[in-house]
Amino acid sequence: HFGFQDGLSESEKTDRVAGVFHSVADSYDRMNDLMSFGWHRIWKDHFVSSLNPGYSSSIPPAPQRVLDVAGGTGDIAFRMLHQSHVVNANPNIHITISDINPSMLAVGKQRSLSLPAAQQATLSFLEADATQLPSTILPNSLDLYTVAFGIRNFANIPAALAEAYRVLKPGGVFACLEFSKVRNPVFDAIYKRWSFSAIPLIGQLVAGDRDSYQYLVESIERFPSQDEFRGLIEDAGFVVGGDGFEDLTNGIAAIHKGMKP
Ligand code: SAM
Repeated sequence: HFGFQDGLSESEKTDRVAGVFHSVADSYDRMNDLMSFGWHRIWKDHFVSSLNPGYSSSIPPAPQRVLDVAGGTGDIAFRMLHQSHVVNANPNIHITISDINPSMLAVGKQRSLSLPAAQQATLSFLEADATQLPSTILPNSLDLYTVAFGIRNFANIPAALAEAYRVLKPGGVFACLEFSKVRNPVFDAIYKRWSFSAIPLIGQLVAGDRDSYQYLVESIERFPSQDEFRGLIEDAGFVVGGDGFEDLTNGIAAIHKGMKP
């Protein structure tokens, strides 16, 4: 299985990833809990509260437009809706969940039906490739661009960052939650052993799909380090503050943020 994507063209890589997420869509939410011992929920909660969508210092609050890229089954977008509508008492937000994969979006649409009607009214879905966003998303139109556990799957990461930059307003924020590099060598050894042996096995037993989960583990391994990824974000034109990232659970995951000047 190693070298899953070696020697493939960009469009072949994109097709391969589409196949993986088509086959995992139905089991995706359950598998996330099993593979991360539920940690992904804590990371997602922290990611969204740190962004605090819907917060506004002006009265009435300025409208906000948010694009959740590779939004899949809605975990990030639904949390952002809650943060804005409930925590910040601000319904003046619009969130678009975009994903390249109609199967993942279909699961997200189904799940969104149990949201309060007011929240559903401020949510829309869009089938789109992050490396080539459609013209319906206007340049300089977004306040916030989020991508969680998505960017490592993109065939061309710099192209996706350039697209994020293009569609954000000046002052708009790019925010990414992604698996990253574990700092502590002992913890890293244990983590690698877990991910390379247990995750494909759980994938086989629970979802009947070893190869897709093998791919997910390999894609984490291939993704750049915290510092390298910050460099790519800066190369795209974003300004980053401080370290430019925040490690979660010893670097198993990390949050990167950048602002379009
Ligand atoms: N953001 C969600 C979450 O945190 O639960 C879903 C993450 S899921 C691991 C990754 C998603 O990236 C999949 O839904 C997949 O279809 C999507 N994806 C992969 N390549 C993409 C691309 N080029 N453009 C947009 N979405 C893509």
